[in-house]
Amino acid sequence: MSKYKGKKVLIVGCGKSGVATAKYMVKQGARVMITDTKQRTELLEVLKDLGDLKVEFEFGGHTDRSFMGAEVVVVSPGIHHQNHQFIQMAKSKGTPITTEIEIAVENLQHPLIGITGTNGKSTVTSLIGEMFKSDQKEVFVGGNLGTPLIEFINQGQNGIAAVAELSSYQLEGVEKMVPAVAVFTNIDQDHLDRYGTMENYINAKKKLLKACDRNSWVVLNADDPVVKSFAQETVGKVAWYTTRDPMTVGGDFAENFFGAYFNAAKSQIIVKVTGKEEIYSLEHFKLFGDHNKMNAMASIVAARLMGVSAFGIQNALSQFKGLPHRLEFVRKKDGVFFFNDSKSTNIQSMQASLSAFKRSPVILIAGGKDKNMDFAPVAPLVKDKVKFLILLGEAKEKLNRALGDFAETYLVGTFEEAVLISFQKSRTGDVILLSPGCSSQDMFRDFEERGDYFKKLVHQL
Ligand code: ADP
Repeated sequence: MSKYKGKKVLIVGCGKSGVATAKYMVKQGARVMITDTKQRTELLEVLKDLGDLKVEFEFGGHTDRSFMGAEVVVVSPGIHHQNHQFIQMAKSKGTPITTEIEIAVENLQHPLIGITGTNGKSTVTSLIGEMFKSDQKEVFVGGNLGTPLIEFINQGQNGIAAVAELSSYQLEGVEKMVPAVAVFTNIDQDHLDRYGTMENYINAKKKLLKACDRNSWVVLNADDPVVKSFAQETVGKVAWYTTRDPMTVGGDFAENFFGAYFNAAKSQIIVKVTGKEEIYSLEHFKLFGDHNKMNAMASIVAARLMGVSAFGIQNALSQFKGLPHRLEFVRKKDGVFFFNDSKSTNIQSMQASLSAFKRSPVILIAGGKDKNMDFAPVAPLVKDKVKFLILLGEAKEKLNRALGDFAETYLVGTFEEAVLISFQKSRTGDVILLSPGCSSQDMFRDFEERGDYFKKLVHQL
């Protein structure tokens, strides 16, 4: 019998994760309530998914009564436990506090491949999923991206593994997870509005590392100093990926190299995980930028460790089209190339997308909601690559102070203006790049709405 049967379960947050958890809990025979500070009218889309399941709601704010009456509280990833007066109240009463991910992993009967890091999580998660698919192996692909992990449980766990993107918010509440493979992409400043310090942010990411046991594979980016240092802190088995030929690093790293590295001259990825060397070609790899080569390597190592065939991996590498809003090519007009990188919500992703354009001058559209970030590290790239800087949104003044001296800069009020000015200023061969470096919520619901709007304006030119 389910431990939730007959229990009063309160789900805090009526997003995709909360709704999927409600479905799970109803199936377990729990008495479910969802509480959210938003009004019902703002949540209609996500509520559709509940159909006519028996769930109680509390919209437009929380009450003491619902938290005090709950026997289990499930907190959505967007909600900050520590600062939440009601959650703290329930906790002090001794009510168990849990999360969707925690409930999902408790029930998981298949290996978990968890992916975290500041940038590249969604790309790597999707690419690993495609590799399994190319090998005719069914897996769940989701987590922070797309479908919540608990849906895999709801749907009967059809598949041989779960490939899950895990955000730092989702990892905060994790205690019982043991991944078969944990992939770390990179760590750079992000979400400092929530975490206050880099240390707190890194500690949240490290939850995935701490979750690994001796049998877990830990796939680490050797080019990222923070991620590299994780090798010393894990009991798991480490596999590396790096742009540098291990021979140029030397020592034990070269002698016992285990993982993948990039041969730029040949546009190949060399992989050593099965005892013999394998070569994967990037000739038909469609994603731009060196950062996507890192994503490719991380994915190959994880997939190969999970037994995906070399053929399946190569096939997926050559076919994968990338995800929308991640350095997505939109169109060419009058010799000018437009790229939508709306998912770029931090400094590292701005740097990655600017670096992807080796020769073309870039007109950069940036700005949005600031996450308490220091934009100064982008200045050298702006100086080097950016012809005009078009700034908008809440953070435009801050961005202007950090970057305005390094390129001719225009501060604008709307996306319409940003697209028009950038096009007016462009010449044949230029790239117009939306890579905001900030989150979207100052003007849009999310990065998808922002990117779609940008694409619409670009198509209207
Ligand atoms: P995440 O799920 O971690 O946000 P995405 O794959 O959705 O990662 O990409 C988010 C942003 O980061 C996009 O702007 C994308 O161009 C950029 N990006 C993707 N992979 C990397 C990487 N390995 N390093 C730096 N930036 C990256």
